[in-house]
Amino acid sequence: STLNNEVLKSPCANIPIPEETLIARILNSLEHHSSKYPGKAAVIEAANEDRSLTYQQVHDRALSFAAFLASRGFRIGDRLTAALPNSIEWPVMHVGTWTAGGAVVGSSAAFKLYETVYQLRDSSSSFVVVSEQLLDTFIEAAKECSTVKTIICVRSSDRPLPDGVIDFEETIKIQPLKELPPVTLDTVCMIYYSSGTTGQPKGIIHTHRTFHCAVEMLRSHWLHEIYPVLGADEVDLYKESQIVNSACYHILGFAQLNWYLITGSPMILVKAFEGKLYLDLVEKYKPRYLIVAPPIFTYLAKDAKGKMASLSSVQMIVCSTAPLSKELSDEFLTSHQNVKYIVQGYGMTEMCFSHLPLLLDVGVNASCGVIVDIDSLPPAKQGQRGEVCVRGAAQTIGYLNKTEATKELIDDDGWIHTGDIGYIDDRGLLYVVDRLKELIKVNYMNQSLQVPPAELEGILISHHRIRDAAIVGIPDASHGELVRAFVVKSDENLTEKEVENLVADKLAEFKRITGGVVFVDAIPRSPAGKILRRVLRKINGA
Ligand code: AMP
Repeated sequence: STLNNEVLKSPCANIPIPEETLIARILNSLEHHSSKYPGKAAVIEAANEDRSLTYQQVHDRALSFAAFLASRGFRIGDRLTAALPNSIEWPVMHVGTWTAGGAVVGSSAAFKLYETVYQLRDSSSSFVVVSEQLLDTFIEAAKECSTVKTIICVRSSDRPLPDGVIDFEETIKIQPLKELPPVTLDTVCMIYYSSGTTGQPKGIIHTHRTFHCAVEMLRSHWLHEIYPVLGADEVDLYKESQIVNSACYHILGFAQLNWYLITGSPMILVKAFEGKLYLDLVEKYKPRYLIVAPPIFTYLAKDAKGKMASLSSVQMIVCSTAPLSKELSDEFLTSHQNVKYIVQGYGMTEMCFSHLPLLLDVGVNASCGVIVDIDSLPPAKQGQRGEVCVRGAAQTIGYLNKTEATKELIDDDGWIHTGDIGYIDDRGLLYVVDRLKELIKVNYMNQSLQVPPAELEGILISHHRIRDAAIVGIPDASHGELVRAFVVKSDENLTEKEVENLVADKLAEFKRITGGVVFVDAIPRSPAGKILRRVLRKINGA
């Protein structure tokens, strides 16, 4: 590949690639923690601390859940869709599914019927674990998906369950699974969806090797690069509680869940972000660092002013999943003396996280962290913009059922083409400044979530009153990006409101058209038929 001449290496030492499966590691860790600290809580729900599980309970319940799955015909390679907010059931469910040889398919709690059916079908999920709030949607969806055999519900009320739906509580009462299926490093452990660089949402496949590498990267990086700088060389991880506020159906939350199950750090699982609750948790558990998405950072910077006491333990904030405003982080640093580092994590579900922060000095916050061994960087390349391409052991093995898209993502030499545009400065810091790809990311309920343009365009174009349509993202300080629709009418009377409703009726609330509808005579396309989004964005600017 032409890329091979320009490869830039991390200045950090290589991390040995794990030789055991992620599930073996997790089960061993749980057993180890249970014998070391028998009564200690491993997971605690933030909003109701009575709901907690010890390491032993997570272990035993997971093995029961695995036995339940196996008793219902779940086999190695099968898939289970998880549509569950962060809760103590998460680790039981995912460790159990892995023990039974299956893969977890993440599903957003905001999805409506349309998205649910699409994902259940595409992933051929046979089992579903769903919260009571989403149960009706999944029952409807299952009618249209012949692969779904069993629906398991995590209840939050006394309302009786409809016939055929299984109470999660029943699944963890049966005898633990004794004969474990032969899971290998190549067994698929997760399928999480993203629209990638173009087109409809695609299932990103990770195995017990790739995801283990990602989790190990976090664990090892913190141990060797982060903790020493934070003055915590001899840190006792059993005493360091961590707040997990990213959803476990996004890779960031799921990676943290697994990382802390391995280290034994107690986890405080946040179901739905709420400012005061979050500050109270930080004050109570005194974490050294926080891992947040930009909306929470904005909350801390703007709305939590005057409540600084709550943040007194925090030395570092890692902001990830979308760009962070330099102005906001600078402002934050001047008003919080104890917070020395604001750094960014950069990644994408396809490669887990390729760029973890190094703590150099104050003021590196607009970059995604030091990634580059500066000596390997030719001077001419400094400052030059280009597509960020990465290669590593934590990257996906490909998209489910999508050979062509996989070829576009991973080139012949194994490089992932991220579709992000970045440059590297003279200190070797990477800055992600733009996107080549279609993907839009919006702030919603304190997360930064993906809006796949092709999904919205598909809904609009298939409507008989619309001839053509295109969706683009418009940068916006508070929303991250606004979602704007360009529409060519086939019915003169079509209104903007009607166009907005077509999307709102079918898709999750966070995918709404928030940036207006613009009626045009034609959608600009390349000779090959690709929408020229850059041209459309310029129309916006007018
Ligand atoms: P996802 O797979 O949902 O995590 O989305 C991955 C995409 O989010 C990346 O390809 C980037 O476009 C964007 N992204 C993630 N982290 C950052 C960051 N620190 N700065 C800018 N964009 C980011």
